[in-house]
This record gives sequence, C-alpha cells and structure tokens, in this order.
Amino acid sequence: MSVQPLETAATEFCLDRRRRKSRAFDLAVNSTARRTVALNFWGRERPVYANANLSIYSGQTCNARCAFCVEELRPASRGGALAQQRTVEPDDETYFSSLEESLRVLRHLNPSVSVTGGEPSLDPRLPRILRTIAAAGARKRTITTNGSGLLDIREGKTVLDWISECGLAHLNLSRAHPDEERNNQQMGFRRSLPREELGGIVQRARRAGVRVRLSCILVKEGVSDLEGIERYLEFARSVGVDNVIFRGLMQPDARTADLQNSVVRYSAAHRVALDPILTEISRHSGFGFRKQITGYYYYVEVWRHRGVDVVFEEADLAQLEAEKRAHPEVIHELIFHPNAKLASTWQPWDGVLGPSVPKSAPTA
Ligand code: SF4
Repeated sequence: MSVQPLETAATEFCLDRRRRKSRAFDLAVNSTARRTVALNFWGRERPVYANANLSIYSGQTCNARCAFCVEELRPASRGGALAQQRTVEPDDETYFSSLEESLRVLRHLNPSVSVTGGEPSLDPRLPRILRTIAAAGARKRTITTNGSGLLDIREGKTVLDWISECGLAHLNLSRAHPDEERNNQQMGFRRSLPREELGGIVQRARRAGVRVRLSCILVKEGVSDLEGIERYLEFARSVGVDNVIFRGLMQPDARTADLQNSVVRYSAAHRVALDPILTEISRHSGFGFRKQITGYYYYVEVWRHRGVDVVFEEADLAQLEAEKRAHPEVIHELIFHPNAKLASTWQPWDGVLGPSVPKSAPTA
C-alpha cells in the first residue's frame, strides 16, 4: 500500500521543515493547492482538499505476509483488526455502478487515482477497474502492487498489458530487498520477481509509457542504512528503474493503537530512524537535493542519485488523526472501499460519503 501525495512542495532545502515534518502542514498557508473545493456528496456539501487523491482499495486479499504490512497497521493504529473491518461487495454490477457514481461526483475535483490493496494484481476485477478509471478520464492513474500477478492472464491479456493499455502513469512495485530470497523472507511469500523477469517488466512498461517505481520499507533486519540504500539503488539501475522510494515504518497513533497487534509490535521493534540517514544523504556528494514535501500526515524528501530519483517518506498516523480533529469538515483523501462505498478514511466505517446509487446507473 502506498501513501499518496497531498502535498506542499519546496525547491530549497529547509532544515526546519525536516524537523517539523507533517506538523508543519497548513493547508491554507503552505500547501500546493492552498484551497479546498466544495463537492456535493449525494446531498451533503463538504470541502475537499484541491489536490486530494482517490485510492481504489482492491478487495483482493494480499498473498504476501509482510511483518510491517501497512494495510494491517492502519486499522491496528485505531485499535481494530483488518479482518473485522474488511467486507467486499460481492455483486460486480453493484460494485461498478458505485465506482462510476463516485467518479461522477468527483469529476469537478479531478483527483489523481491510485489502485492499491490488498493485492490488486491478483484481483479479477482489476481490468474493469482500470478501464473504468480510464473511461472517466482520471488525470493521473497509478497502481501499487507486490508484482506477483503482473504476468497472470486476465480477460485474455496479462495484467501488465492492462496497466499499459489503460494509460497508467506509474507502476509502484513493493520490493523490500534486492536479493530474491531475502525479499521472500521479509515479505513472507515465494513470489518475488527474479531480477531478469523484473527487468523485462520494467522494459515492457517503459515502452508503453508507464514509469516503474520500486518501493522499499526501511527495517532493521533489511535495508537499514546508507550502504544498504546504495546497494538497493544499484539493483534498481541494473533492472532499468529510475525511481525508488524508501519508506520509514509508519508511526501508529499511541492513543488508540492495539499494542498486541503483531504489526504494531514489529514496527516498534524494527523501525529505522530516518533523520540520521537524511543527515548522511545531505552530506553525501553523490546525492543532489530536489524537493521537500509536507503532507497532512507524512513528510517526503526527494533526492537524485546517479540518474535515479530517490524519495524518502515518513508517515505519522497520530498526526492524521490530529488533523482530522482540528478540521473535521475537510476531506484530505478519498478511498473507494471493497464494499463499494466512498469514504474519507481508510476505515470503511468512518467518514462514509456514499454513494446512493440510482438503479439506472450505467455500467462499464
Ligand atoms: S505486499 Fe506486504 S505490505 Fe503490501 S499489502 Fe501485501 S502484506 Fe501488506
């Protein structure tokens, strides 16, 4: 799963921004959009951040078992379990009617759209989801996947072909470690893409205009320091990737987190501090600074290293809740859940916006 940019950007490095991170976020003062858009959600008007992203959350259960799983951590941060909150709308026509209706309501906002999971590359609905968002003209379309189903055939084509044909801008591939075996261990599955296969996917995607980004979680037992980061970047270059994101483990909300949850406990024990790494990067002649981004609950720095865009990201779920408490009316992000409901949070029971689907709504 990924955090989508709802950001403020700067081109000159500011140490204070690094120190304050998402606590510095102020929508009206320093965000890129600096405004909200009033949208009518089936009879109720709400202000939505003008650069909000729509995530389409695939209902397909992930086949990996990352000890640091973000999908598990979000509900655990609020004291719940993923299994208790996840329900999937079983009827395809109802699901797609709701998706189209949601895209219609959001048309004036024109959000970027990301497909995430779960594991979307294994989702039988994925080709139709991709066709639906392409038909709606969503401006920037991305997908985040562990890659295991990219070469599977669905509706007569590979998933990778569907991604290419539906005009996605980015294909985000989760990869915890360059080494296949270590990646299998860390992600808890046996379907890591071998280097040659990954290289082939990157080439095919690139020919179709899709930019591949590798996503690596920083953990003590894996990539955890500058040396590991440089080795990872070497691996990325060797498979033709020019865009890598390193993520710190998300900080759960200490007020509500389920401390017995294994992901919460793993995160506390294996979190790698990002600041010392960023300090080293700042002093390293091989890295060139690009920009800082402050989101409403995350902080991002973008650097360049020998032809590769290198992104560092840290997210704080307590800050997300604090922002929601401070501005309860404002919607910062939109999630279309597997139960076919649009909501303003990653929990399908919180911030539900709709839709009320008319019986005659068209289908894809
Ligand atoms: S790939 Fe890992 S982090 Fe992503 S949803 Fe699957 S188990 Fe969670």
